[in-house]
Amino acid sequence: MTSPSKKLSFEFFPTRTPEGRAKQVITRKQLRQFSPEFFSCTSGAGGSTRDGTMQTIGDILAEGTAAAPHLPCIGMTAAEIRELLDTYKEMGVRHIVALRGDIPSGMGAGTSGLRYANELVELIKNEYGSHFHIEIAAYPEYHPQARSAEDDLNHFVRKAKAGADSAITQYFYNADAYFRFLDDVRGRGVDIPIIPGIMPIASFSKLVRFSDTCGAEIPRWLRLKLQSYADDSAAIKALALDVVTEMCERLLREGAPSLHFYTLNQAGLVSTICQRLGY
Ligand code: FAD
Repeated sequence: MTSPSKKLSFEFFPTRTPEGRAKQVITRKQLRQFSPEFFSCTSGAGGSTRDGTMQTIGDILAEGTAAAPHLPCIGMTAAEIRELLDTYKEMGVRHIVALRGDIPSGMGAGTSGLRYANELVELIKNEYGSHFHIEIAAYPEYHPQARSAEDDLNHFVRKAKAGADSAITQYFYNADAYFRFLDDVRGRGVDIPIIPGIMPIASFSKLVRFSDTCGAEIPRWLRLKLQSYADDSAAIKALALDVVTEMCERLLREGAPSLHFYTLNQAGLVSTICQRLGY
């Protein structure tokens, strides 16, 4: 089977131990067979994983793949943000995922004056021109703190028009929400690529916990069906792989520009989905 022409990208989080770092090298090697456009690495708000993120980004670049650090701006001063961007620029980074982030409770929000991601996009665009490809976050099922769907769409449009080059969505299991979001933002004059973020389902209980906080909906039929499998992890895995692969097929067929996988630092499920898609 020939590989589909649309590119893929894969997201990791920074590891805490030398063993974790070594394991991630192997995971990335497995995923490199799909010729990714880039690997990205998350970063804790307030600079909480700064060293780990930077180390991971350095590793990815040394392996010869384009690397995209996530940069959550909340809790950082503008000077700290510039220092980080300068360092990334010196390292050879050309791609940034620009975010607000969620400040952990108990940590101050900092004095940077940057409160939302649109302000970070503006800073990067104004001060670094076109050096960085700026990726932003999108929420087809709306951000959990949004006052209303309309409000959230307008904020997304403002953020995109501040100078973003493309967007990656929060994960979802309802392709219609993605296509509706696309129509809504296109109707508001935003034409940047909006890349679906894909979350394979490894554990039902973890997925439920995750989805409740980030505002992603697990469709009722899928939740009930997965629930009915109780501890039968093989059945959960089989259904989840079918559901996610079918959704990816539809997304690619109906116009998604590429796919971004939340790997959770594991290659297994993601590789199976990519292979089933013909990559
Ligand atoms: P924003 O776009 O700033 O929006 C945040 C909220 O504020 C929304 O409800 C929006 O409607 C509202 N809003 C936006 N602009 C304004 C405005 N000007 N005035 C009033 N209200 C406004 N988090 C991390 O900590 N680290 C990561 O590495 C990370 N990676 C992520 C990667 C992706 C692809 C995605 C989708 C999310 C990621 N997140 C990460 C989570 C993200 O940081 C949180 O969802 C956060 O709450 C919002 O970030 P944002 O950049 O979307 O914020």
